[in-house]
Amino acid sequence: MNTERFLEEDFGSFVEELLSLQRFNDSKEIGIAKLAQDMGYKHLTPKQKFVFEKSIDPYLIEECSRCGEDIPWSEMSAAEDNGQLCSWCQQLTSHDN
Ligand SMILES: [Zn+2]
Repeated sequence: MNTERFLEEDFGSFVEELLSLQRFNDSKEIGIAKLAQDMGYKHLTPKQKFVFEKSIDPYLIEECSRCGEDIPWSEMSAAEDNGQLCSWCQQLTSHDN
């Protein structure tokens, strides 16, 4: 994923979601995630960024699997459970069922 997206305004809420879902493996990852949430990704050291990116990588969805649009951070956690779709495509495809 393009790390530019980590600088988007609502990225912090995604990190907060991962924290509340206990998606991090150890106290080191949790500590860095909290730093990223509090101060922003750009304030992490290169070493912290490396650990952080690795820890959130399994939960990142690059784009909607149907329309190819970026998935907003606010929808990413939900998209993980619904076939990696954006909310728009999710609404469209829910009529097929
Ligand atoms: Zn879509």
